[in-house]
Amino acid sequence: MNRVYNFSAGPSMLPLSVLEKAASELVCYGESGMSVMEMSHRSPDYDAIIKDAEAKLRQLMNIPDNYKVLFLQGGASTQFAAVPLNLLSEGGCADYIVSGQFSGKAYTEAQKYGDVKIAATSKPDNFTYIPATTRESFRANADYVHVCFNNTIYGTKFPEIPDTGDIPLVADMSSCIISEPVDVSKFGVIYAGAQKNMAPAGLTIVIVREDLLGRARPETPSMLDWKLMADNDSMYNTPPCYAIYMAKLVYEWILDMGGLEEMKARNVRKAALLYDYLDSQDYYIAPVKKESRSMMNVTFVTGDADLDKKFASEASKAGLKNLKGHRSVGGMRASIYNAMPEEGVAALVEFMKKFAAENPKA
Ligand SMILES: *Cc1c(COP(=O)(O)O)cnc(C)c1O
Repeated sequence: MNRVYNFSAGPSMLPLSVLEKAASELVCYGESGMSVMEMSHRSPDYDAIIKDAEAKLRQLMNIPDNYKVLFLQGGASTQFAAVPLNLLSEGGCADYIVSGQFSGKAYTEAQKYGDVKIAATSKPDNFTYIPATTRESFRANADYVHVCFNNTIYGTKFPEIPDTGDIPLVADMSSCIISEPVDVSKFGVIYAGAQKNMAPAGLTIVIVREDLLGRARPETPSMLDWKLMADNDSMYNTPPCYAIYMAKLVYEWILDMGGLEEMKARNVRKAALLYDYLDSQDYYIAPVKKESRSMMNVTFVTGDADLDKKFASEASKAGLKNLKGHRSVGGMRASIYNAMPEEGVAALVEFMKKFAAENPKA
């Protein structure tokens, strides 16, 4: 059976070579005589896997020594609560930039725990851009500022890291992590659900600066307490063993190609293929402001809901899957994460040209 080009926003494509490698050791991992799925998380074989996964992620992202890397469960959405529980002090406050649905959810969740304010939002303009901020946009006494770095649903990304001065910056990077180099030292916390760009669903990565550990509120559930998880090397309970193993293979795949500089070069080329085409014609409309465009999620519409529907269904028949936009915004969305090959994006552009020619607007 032929593999399709899967433009799903998540879970999404994994590199074919990674899937093949996993398949080759699925039943018997090394000399262990068992599958990674069957291993005790306390066994020497598994210990080597999780340590290697952490070492490779540190190398890939150039994570400074004063940051902990946690391999957790619960998805990015669980971190919407974990962030205030770990960082919002009694009587303290936190500021949120709301640039899409996920940052809105993070903000709503944090409101349960204290004084949380929206410092900037692009909601009145349907989240078609990233709102600009300066240090003065944030309360000087805020415990942290929260952003969603790449807005998966709307197809926007922060063009630069917002300047929050001394206030720790917390970023949801679920849909852009390891797509390009980022200066980790500019962030207090980076977190991400793994199923967009790293691994199958079930794994959540938290990268946290050490001085931010140990501030958790007393009522914080143990499973959400970053310090407890760090003190136990992400093994307070059973970690998502197989997803961590898969993440390790994905990190190796990127390191082998030359690391995040090379990954970025490929992603820039893919995104340019699609955006250059969108900018060259007027059949499709790309609603996002240019300076806020995402390199991972590209949104566009025809302006006619019936044509949009037809587009997604005909594309699917042509082997270009999951191009329907998020149910809350409609239109189309092409998620072109790390594992989407350049040929997949080229095939999409060719399909778009053909569809436009065959379906003139009334
Ligand atoms: C997908 C996504 C989420 C939700 O992730 P879960 O792991 O399903 O909780 C949150 N934030 C962003 C930016 C996402 O893309």
